[in-house]
Amino acid sequence: MKQILLALKLNLRKLILISTIVSVSCLFIVSIFILNYVIKEQLIQNSLSVNEKYASKVAISAGEHFDDMLRELKYSANLLGQDFSNRQLTQEEAKRLKNQSNKFNSLLIVDKQRRVVSFEPQSLHLSTHISYDTVGITESLKHKATYISPPYWSVKHNLVVILSQPIYDQNKNYQGMIGGTIYLQKNNLIQKILSTEYDFKKSYMYVIDENNRIIFHPDPTRIGEEIIHNNGLDYMVRKRMGNIRLINSRGVANLAGFAYIPSVNWIVVSQQPTEELLKQANLILLKVSVGIFIFYFFIFFIVWKLSRFISSPLNSLAKMASMLNQPDIQDRIRQVDPWYFEVLKFRTSLLLSSHTFSEKINELRQHVNTDPLTGLYNRRGMNIFLKELVNVKRSFAVLAIDIDFFKNVNDRYGHAQGDEILKTLASFMKSNFRDEDICCRFGGEEFIVLMTTSDPNVAYNAAERLRKTMESSNINSVGPITLSIGIAFWPKHSHDVNEVFKMADNKLYQAKNSGRNRICY
Ligand code: GH3
Ligand code: MG
Ligand code: MG
Repeated sequence: MKQILLALKLNLRKLILISTIVSVSCLFIVSIFILNYVIKEQLIQNSLSVNEKYASKVAISAGEHFDDMLRELKYSANLLGQDFSNRQLTQEEAKRLKNQSNKFNSLLIVDKQRRVVSFEPQSLHLSTHISYDTVGITESLKHKATYISPPYWSVKHNLVVILSQPIYDQNKNYQGMIGGTIYLQKNNLIQKILSTEYDFKKSYMYVIDENNRIIFHPDPTRIGEEIIHNNGLDYMVRKRMGNIRLINSRGVANLAGFAYIPSVNWIVVSQQPTEELLKQANLILLKVSVGIFIFYFFIFFIVWKLSRFISSPLNSLAKMASMLNQPDIQDRIRQVDPWYFEVLKFRTSLLLSSHTFSEKINELRQHVNTDPLTGLYNRRGMNIFLKELVNVKRSFAVLAIDIDFFKNVNDRYGHAQGDEILKTLASFMKSNFRDEDICCRFGGEEFIVLMTTSDPNVAYNAAERLRKTMESSNINSVGPITLSIGIAFWPKHSHDVNEVFKMADNKLYQAKNSGRNRICY
C-alpha cells in the first residue's frame, strides 16, 4: 500500500484533487440514487392518483347515464303496464326510447312467455311468435325486477348487455319487461363516455362487471372475456374505489385507479403500464444528472484552481528546504507569500533554519581551514588562497619560517610553554604582515606566509621585521627566540608552485646552516 502511494508521487495538490474527485463522485452517485428513487416514487404516486381521479370521474359520469337509462326504461314500463296488450303502444314506446336519445343500441319489449312483442330497430327482424331464451330475456323475466345482465350473445349474434325494467299492470300483476341493450362490440354509449382523448403515455381504461367479465376494453377482442390472472382484481372488487399497483392478465405491471358504478355494479379501471411511466422517469433523471454533473464539474474546476493556490507556497517551501546551502535561499524563501497560517509557520521556520544553517556552514568552514592553536590558516586554508592567487595570476612570495632550536625550548620549559611561544609568534605574524598576506601554520613550528608581492625587498623587509620582533621579545621570560626564514617567488623562480615552495624550503635550510636567526632569498 505504502509503495503504491509512493509510486503515485503524491503531493498536496494531488491529494486535494483526489479527495475532491472521490467526494464529488460519491455525492454524485448518492444524489442520482436518491433522485432516481424520489422521481420514480413521485411519478408513480402521481399516476396512481391521476388514474384514480379519472376512473372516479368517468364512473360518476357513466353512473349518471345508466341512472337516466334505467329511469327512462322505468317510465316506459309504468306506461306500458297501463295497457300492455296494446301493440301499437308498445311499438311506439320502443321506437321512442330507441330514437329519442340513441342511448340504447336496441329496444325489446318482452311478455312473460319470453316473446318479443315489440322491438327497435326493425332491422333486427325478430319474430313476435317465438319464445327467446337468451340470458338477457330469461334472467330478466326470472328477476321480475330491475336487471342488468352480464355480457351475452344475442339472437342476432351481438355481444350485448341488457338493462331491463319489469312491467306490472295496475293490479301489480307481472306482464313482462322492457329492456334496452348495449352492443358491446359496436358503437355504443359506454364507448362514447370512456373513449375520451385520455391517452397519456399509453394509459387506457376498461370496465368490468360484477362477474369479472370485460364490458369495455380498447382491444375489442377482449370484450366479454372473463378476467383471470389479474392480481389486483380481488382488491378492486373489495375496495370498489382507490388505486393499486397490479400485474394484469398479460403479466404487465400497471398503475391503476378504479371506481365503482353503483347503478350497474361495474368497475371502471384506468391504468398505465409502469414501464411507460418509468421511461419518462429515466428521461427526467438523465436531464437532472447532466445538470448535476455540470454543476459538480464546475465545483471540481474551482477546487482544481484553488488547490494550486493552496499547495504552491508549501510546495515551493518544501523544495527550498532541500537547498538551504544555496547563497540566495533566504531571499527566495522571503518571496513566498505566506497567506495562510501553515505557510507562515513553515516559512519562518525555514528562514530560521537557513540562517542557522549558513552560520553553521561558515563556522565549519572556519574550523576546517584554520589551525586551532594559533588561529592562522592551516595547509588546507592556505591551499585555497594559493589556488586563487595562481588562478588570478597574482605574483607572490613564499616565506618559509622555522623557529630555531625549538626542541630545546620544549625540553627546557615544557610543551605548554612551547605552545605559548607558537601562539605569540602567530600574533606577531598577524600584526607584522598586511591583511592581504596569508599567514599559515604549516606544521609543528614551521610557518608559511604568502605575500602578494613580487618585490624581493618588500618581502625581505617584512621578514626582517618579524625576525627582529621575535629576537627582541622575551616571551614568558624564556629568553630570545630566533627565526630562520627562506624566501622564494612565484612565478619569478618557477611557474610550478611546488618548485617555489621547495626553493623557499631550501633557502630556509640555507639560513639554518649558515647560523640561523637570518633570512635567505
Ligand atoms: P632547528 O629548527 O633550529 O634545526 O632546531 P629545532 O629544535 O627547531 O629542530 P626541529 O625543527 O627538528 O624540531 C621541531 C620541534 O618543534 C620538535 C617539537 O618538539 C617541536 N614542536 C613541533 N610542533 C610543536 C607544537 O605544536 N608545540 C610545541 N610546544 N612544540 C612543537
Ligand atoms: Mg622545524
Ligand atoms: Mg626548528
